[in-house]
Amino acid sequence: MTKARQNKEFRESELKAKQRSREQIDTKQKERKSTLKAKTKARQNKEFRESELKAKQRSREELETKQKERKSTLKAKIKARQRKEYCDLEIEMKRLLRKNPLQLEKERLKKQENRKVHRQMERCRDKLSKATKRKTFALVDHERLLNKKRHIGCTIDESIVKFHARVANGPIYACSCCHQTWFRKSVVQLDKAHITLESRQLCTDLTSVDGKQWLCSTCLASLKEEKVPKLSVKNGMLWPKKPEVLNLHPLEERLISQRIPFMQIRELPRGGQLSAKGNIVNVPVDIQPTINALPRQVDEHVTIAVKLKKRLSHKSSCFSENIRPKVVLKALKWLMENSELYKSENIKIDETWEKRITEANDELITELTGSSRSKDDRDSEEASDDFCEISADDGTQGNTDTLVDDTDFDTNKIYVFAPGENQKPISLYEDKDAEYLCFPSIFCGQRRLDNEKRHKNVHYSDIAKWGIEKC
Ligand SMILES: [Zn+2]
Repeated sequence: MTKARQNKEFRESELKAKQRSREQIDTKQKERKSTLKAKTKARQNKEFRESELKAKQRSREELETKQKERKSTLKAKIKARQRKEYCDLEIEMKRLLRKNPLQLEKERLKKQENRKVHRQMERCRDKLSKATKRKTFALVDHERLLNKKRHIGCTIDESIVKFHARVANGPIYACSCCHQTWFRKSVVQLDKAHITLESRQLCTDLTSVDGKQWLCSTCLASLKEEKVPKLSVKNGMLWPKKPEVLNLHPLEERLISQRIPFMQIRELPRGGQLSAKGNIVNVPVDIQPTINALPRQVDEHVTIAVKLKKRLSHKSSCFSENIRPKVVLKALKWLMENSELYKSENIKIDETWEKRITEANDELITELTGSSRSKDDRDSEEASDDFCEISADDGTQGNTDTLVDDTDFDTNKIYVFAPGENQKPISLYEDKDAEYLCFPSIFCGQRRLDNEKRHKNVHYSDIAKWGIEKC
């Protein structure tokens, strides 16, 4: 178009066409005005008015005659239908017509329309009658009583049976859309849910009870409106996949986390749930000295006793447990390789220690026996290695199942760490990554998705609720 407009002739022809159309509109308006004027003038004449009235009456009469005709044809049909031959003929005609798919579709649409109108009318009628009835308190009470009976049961025995049936299964129904677990009453089968195919694509293939896909009522409500459910997997609400190396015990996780959240956790009087009491102090930690101080052992089943203190001078410790140094170092190495939060910290792990210890052991054995052993020998030796169990006398808890009978280091030695000593606590509101740095075994060193990358914004309170339900 822009190229064509550069041509002068094209521009002129365009202008002329526009002018012509404007002239046409003007002439039409002029015509309308003139006809109106002529009509108003003509209506001043009595004869013209009378002729106009007569024409209107004629059209009305035509309608009346049409209605009369319809009535007479109906009557004739009713009369004719009393004869069996006519009925048979009519049925045959209908049968022939129904062979035409277009006719069938027409009939279906007509029926659908009729049903819609009928239902709407019924609904309105029911609403009105219920509203008027509910003004009397007796009916409201009666309805409440009926609901109660349906829900709880009429007798005490019935109530007990209903209660047992309800609590027989815990929240074991996993929603295939949000992956949260629910009780039976909160879920419906995905196959029976009335949702569109597009909404169905927002669900995952997750199956739970009876190998079926279930859908919670919250997700169902959103899917019915063809919206992405707020807490659904498709909205980025998913835990990162936890690798085997991050299966750590609590104190092992503390040693490699970059923040230590000091808090008081107490068991609630009933229900066995835990609650935090008082403030949470978020202390940044430098992992490097702890990692350097950990003893290097080849066997991952070797454990050492560790105490975590607020200060080294304190007598009491916050946490004491037996930990597996090799597992801790492996987990840290994985985080250093895969997590952006750890890569930026520049933590150095001495990776040659394993090789050095193996070589030193080999040399020692060669000196003693005068023969070198192969890798397979080492493996079989490790597998058949007897170990003695030493219970922790100092009240340490945790993985005490395997202890060392290595001559190189003292098994009764307790390693004391105070990584948070002389560190200044950071407010949880200022420290954006505190959560991920505190619990590397939950978040695997990965940040949660930002709201900008989600289909729908998720508030932090919803995330917290979602996290509790999943845990
Ligand atoms: Zn759900």
